[in-house]
Amino acid sequence: MAEIGTDIQKAARLLKRGKLVAIPTETVYGLAGNAFNEEAVLSIFETKNRPQFDPLIVHSSGVEWIKEHVAEIPSLAKTLMDEFWPGPMTLVLPKKSIIPDLVTSGLDSVAVRVPKHPMTHDLLQLLDFPLAAPSANPFGYVSPTTAQHVNDQLGDKIDYILDGGPTTVGLESTIIGFEYGKPIIYRLGGLSMDVIEDLIGPVEVSLNQSSDPKAPGMLKSHYAPGKPLYFGNPGEMITDFEGKRIGFLGFMTRLEFLPPNRQLLLSPRGDLHEAAVNLFAFMRQFEKFPVDLILAERLPEIGLGKAINDRLRRASVNS
Ligand code: AMP
Ligand code: MG
Repeated sequence: MAEIGTDIQKAARLLKRGKLVAIPTETVYGLAGNAFNEEAVLSIFETKNRPQFDPLIVHSSGVEWIKEHVAEIPSLAKTLMDEFWPGPMTLVLPKKSIIPDLVTSGLDSVAVRVPKHPMTHDLLQLLDFPLAAPSANPFGYVSPTTAQHVNDQLGDKIDYILDGGPTTVGLESTIIGFEYGKPIIYRLGGLSMDVIEDLIGPVEVSLNQSSDPKAPGMLKSHYAPGKPLYFGNPGEMITDFEGKRIGFLGFMTRLEFLPPNRQLLLSPRGDLHEAAVNLFAFMRQFEKFPVDLILAERLPEIGLGKAINDRLRRASVNS
């Protein structure tokens, strides 16, 4: 198993030697390596078993650094950076050649973010390179929101996990790109759309629903727990599973017709932020419950509910 600790200097030393370290961010834990070191980047793909056509997000400590990595910053991107960094937003911008093609899967753009976590902020300050860091889980599986989640799945493949406590957002970053100067959301995430639109006006959403492996990073099926998860209206779905042991992942209210100990509620008080924080940890908990399958309820399509529903849909076997 990996060592779990809070030694930022040790994390920096390992990263400088080209090793991988799991790092806390406000969204989910990342599997980090030197973004300028092709071997380190290659081992990120290998450790996660992630296909190389799925590009990585590059993490830096501040906007000044980002300017070193990107060729151009559209004015709307500047507005977004100033408002939402550090924070759960990733921008896709034209890359400079210093970013290896391996990081971007050969695309001429790079996804960049300034994460908001004091430990990772301090770590980045100690480094003179940015960190390529996808979520620290095997490809296709639920993202980790605690150091222990990382250890459970990647502990035998990495040396060190920097423990920054449970993540405070719980969903991956919202990814925004620009096409002909127009902003487009490629992935819903921890920064909700309405907050973005309040700042810059209406934004188009182009979510990748493709199951075509040639489309970088846009696989439809993702975030899946170890048991089949069905997403939708539990009252309707339940009729298909007579005789099965059913688990229920709900928003606020339990189902009367199921035993309470097979149910988890994301936020009994109806807080979507709390629901986001709990989502991935709860999906993992069902693996230890005596259930054959999970029915997951659709949340209200407002605020973070949209991103949560997106994750549940991608985790599901039925939609
Ligand atoms: P993650 O799995 O959280 O590391 O997220 C990485 C995701 O960011 C990829 O799966 C892509 O969807 C997206 N991404 C990264 N780089 C680019 C890029 N250059 N253009 C478009 N999307 C990108
Ligand atoms: Mg991921």
